[in-house]
Amino acid sequence: MSYVLAKSQNDDIHNAGECGGAVTSIFKYLLDEGLVDGVLAIKPGDDIYDGVPTFITDSDDLIGAAGSYHCAPTMVGNIIQKYLYDKKVAVTVKPCDMRSIDELIKRYKIKKENIYTIGLNCGGTVSPITGRKMIELYYDVDPDDVESEEIDKGQFIIELKDGTEKGVKIHDLEMEGYGRRNNCQRCDVKIPRNANIACGNWGSQDGWTFIEINDEKGQELIDGAKNAGILETKSPADPAVEGRLKVEGIMKKMASKVQSVKYPLVSEMDEWNRCIGCYACRDICPICWCCENCELNKDYFTLEENSSPDPLAFQGVRLSHMSFSCVDCGQCDDVCPMDIPVSLIFDKLQKKYYERTGYVAGVSDDVKPPLYSPEKTEL
Ligand SMILES: Cc1cc2nc3c(=O)[nH]c(=O)nc-3n(C[C@H](O)[C@H](O)[C@H](O)COP(=O)(O)OP(=O)(O)OC[C@H]3O[C@@H](n4cnc5c(N)ncnc54)[C@H](O)[C@@H]3O)c2cc1C
Ligand code: SF4
Ligand code: SF4
Ligand code: SF4
Repeated sequence: MSYVLAKSQNDDIHNAGECGGAVTSIFKYLLDEGLVDGVLAIKPGDDIYDGVPTFITDSDDLIGAAGSYHCAPTMVGNIIQKYLYDKKVAVTVKPCDMRSIDELIKRYKIKKENIYTIGLNCGGTVSPITGRKMIELYYDVDPDDVESEEIDKGQFIIELKDGTEKGVKIHDLEMEGYGRRNNCQRCDVKIPRNANIACGNWGSQDGWTFIEINDEKGQELIDGAKNAGILETKSPADPAVEGRLKVEGIMKKMASKVQSVKYPLVSEMDEWNRCIGCYACRDICPICWCCENCELNKDYFTLEENSSPDPLAFQGVRLSHMSFSCVDCGQCDDVCPMDIPVSLIFDKLQKKYYERTGYVAGVSDDVKPPLYSPEKTEL
């Protein structure tokens, strides 16, 4: 592992980028050199609360997707496995994206050799609906008047069309039930170290992106983009490296505090009894890859024609798959029409599984999940 500060040599990209525009520059290098078929990134949709996954094949289109969209809790693992399996792809990944990709690689649903993973450190995402509501309530602003948003020094900051800025402490928003999504508040993987590189503003200087180079492929990306003349790099000072690790440590401590408060409070049976068996949580889950052939669609799970399976039997099947594989991405919470904290339940079980086996879903490289362990193969 090594560290660099990087910035784009292309002024337009540098101006459009969130930090130094390094991520967009690396994408440009990969596309221009023909090393990938396309780039999977996030571009703004109708407004700042809308982030849309986009597959870019022409480097002139990259600028439209530069920047960080904090109200875009998207997932890319399932997009790659469903639509881009045979393509060479470079993709931006938050830690939960990377964890889902890692689990899908273990299931042979994504080819590791086909993808470049450009990690983004992540302090959390805000649900678009929550984002709009909290801006109305705590910023006293029409959400449609917001031009851009950023998270800086613990504040969620908005910039209005007239150029003025307003910021509120994320901690204060979260005390009132707003701010980051619930799963993000307890997410304890903040730097995606199993991506080829992990990029962020922690430890960086103004106009630069701090990059942790995690493997050989990551080093090739940096060297290639430098040799192509699109990226400039320099070494970060030791205190910056230490400061970044310190912030990561603080974020992880805050997450584990939330875990210790939230895990005991959830009553699984009460929650499952409210489930209406709509399958939305299964369909959105990046790890549930086999929806078309899912056992839950089989006759023996259907009680009567056109009815859903018993919610408890349904959740039992999901639990048997997810308890060791859940990457706590929170997509299931986002879509549940009954507001059941599905991810909290599965994440709590994943942590129990971790305590017994040391396996962290989407992170552990050395240990395989049970269904993929040698013992299982021998059986
Ligand atoms: C939700 C979020 C939270 C973050 N939190 C932190 C943090 O706490 N600490 C830290 O050090 N860094 C954090 N980052 C990373 C940081 O904001 C920059 O993305 C990173 O430094 C790269 O900067 P850049 O100028 O090189 O990237 P750019 O050249 O601007 O490229 C950024 C790329 O990220 C993609 N992207 C934007 N939003 C998303 C998204 N929601 N999901 C996936 N891809 C996206 C864009 O499409 C673009 O391709 C966060 C990023 C995001 C998206
Ligand atoms: S679950 Fe973690 S990695 Fe994913 S968006 Fe939330 S804080 Fe970021
Ligand atoms: S169960 Fe929910 S939180 Fe866990 S991986 Fe699936 S969608 Fe994400
Ligand atoms: S989304 Fe909610 S209601 Fe629908 S099946 Fe999942 S837990 Fe049940």
